[in-house]
Amino acid sequence: MLAITEDKAAFVLEVHHRLSEVYGRDIRYFHDLDPLSELVSALLSHRTTNRNSGQAFRNLREVFGTWEAVRDAPVAEVQAAISPCTWPEQKAPRLQHVLRLLTERCGTLSLDFLTGMNVAEARLWLEELPGVGPKTSAAVISFSNMRGKALPVDSHHFRVATRLGIINAKIGEAKAHKALEDLLPPEFTAQQVYDHHQVMMRHGQKVCFHFKPNCRNCVLLDLCPTGKALVNATPQP
Ligand code: SF4
Repeated sequence: MLAITEDKAAFVLEVHHRLSEVYGRDIRYFHDLDPLSELVSALLSHRTTNRNSGQAFRNLREVFGTWEAVRDAPVAEVQAAISPCTWPEQKAPRLQHVLRLLTERCGTLSLDFLTGMNVAEARLWLEELPGVGPKTSAAVISFSNMRGKALPVDSHHFRVATRLGIINAKIGEAKAHKALEDLLPPEFTAQQVYDHHQVMMRHGQKVCFHFKPNCRNCVLLDLCPTGKALVNATPQP
């Protein structure tokens, strides 16, 4: 039987195949936004449900119409528009600060030029912006209409990967992104990398819960040291 200690890349590929059988392949992208709009969406989404950050994003579009208008509005108005998010009082000034910085650096409010860079360069450029780490840069590259090859790692993905022993739970966010992306086959297309993000996230949402993971009904149980230990320690109901 395949074990994590033998060949991590083969192990991750087996996990990918099993989860793809459950959650699907060629998963539809949930956004078709330009890169700047995707960046705004990602900045709003930190520690906020998709539903609430989506509402905040729609509010910004409806109230202000353009990102230039968001940049130049009184901060209290931006804060009110994004109130469905967590910490709108912090996110509103930070968002305006990023929009002003982009205007200074690019001369215009657009990130469409990122499509002319390779993914590594584009991610580095994005990560120089305040509040932008590897998860956000990967989201902009992958989820926007750039449809680039980058792996965002959210908290569900991270939890599943650590329980399977793919990465250590103490690894930081930046190292986790690099380690998990490096383990994917280099020939994976952008769609397959997106699928990997999606199936790991969905598994964390639907089976490998933060509290009481449903290990007995998990297709990864025979691969998972955490799951085996939990099942052995808990009598069958
Ligand atoms: S066996 Fe349990 S801990 Fe392991 S991935 Fe599945 S649900 Fe998560």
